[in-house]
Amino acid sequence: MKKKIQIIVGILLFINLVILGYHWFLINQPISPDDLRVIFLNVGQGDAILVQEKGKNILIDGGPSREIIHQLDQYLPFYQRKIDLMICTHFDLDHVTGLTEVLKRMPVDRVIFSGRKSSLPASEKWLDLVEEKNIPNEIAFFPQEIKINENLSLEFLWPEKEIIQKTDGSNNFTSLVFKLNYGEISFLFTGDATQEVEEHLLARGDDLKSDVLKVGHHGSKYSTLLEFVQAVAPIYSVISVGENNFNHPHLRVLKNLEQAGTKILRTDEKGEIIFLVTQGVLKPVPSF
Ligand SMILES: [Zn+2]
Repeated sequence: MKKKIQIIVGILLFINLVILGYHWFLINQPISPDDLRVIFLNVGQGDAILVQEKGKNILIDGGPSREIIHQLDQYLPFYQRKIDLMICTHFDLDHVTGLTEVLKRMPVDRVIFSGRKSSLPASEKWLDLVEEKNIPNEIAFFPQEIKINENLSLEFLWPEKEIIQKTDGSNNFTSLVFKLNYGEISFLFTGDATQEVEEHLLARGDDLKSDVLKVGHHGSKYSTLLEFVQAVAPIYSVISVGENNFNHPHLRVLKNLEQAGTKILRTDEKGEIIFLVTQGVLKPVPSF
């Protein structure tokens, strides 16, 4: 009887190891030079997204803590432990804190940020480090377009220049919103942009259509109007949210996303969420 139990436990352990190994292989498989990989890292309650293409690493926000370093260690090979471009969508703690940790630990070639500075010490710290390390930096605004590689570009939709210059308005109102275009495939990154920003973008009549939407402000009730999601018409919508999450995402946001017919993926449920674009085809890995 005892032997039988040992055999069953052994078989279960073996199956477990095979599943874990397969999952490890799926998320760590090397990407070919023609691929784009976008990883919504699991940093808890905050945003951090790593974009990799042709050996280039772009980091969009860094989450609320040092956890970003462990996350990056999984995806940056030891011979390429550097960030080519760091983007800070805005200076809230759940976006900038991790970026400062990255700046302290690895080379960063260039930074882009929203022009509206915050009075929070965390934002001062980040800006001081950028200056201290002499990193080329620029403020992004609509309608700038930045070419990263032949096939990869960033199209900034928000904020407009006049809005940066205004001294009022919250950090979230001036959060960077931009499209990452890779051939025919687009990702829309919204930081913590508010409904008011979404209304501005809708009124301007831009082409917002994107295959993947990074849902604004962790799915809070202050973002994600139904009309906005319908205009973006994403196949996938990613909510970057922690388990301890101030009741994010909000029920209304989930309803709007469902009504728009997009597939919702949450980092608190799935862990990191990975998309691969191979030969012009977008697919989540593993498939959801
Ligand atoms: Zn946030």
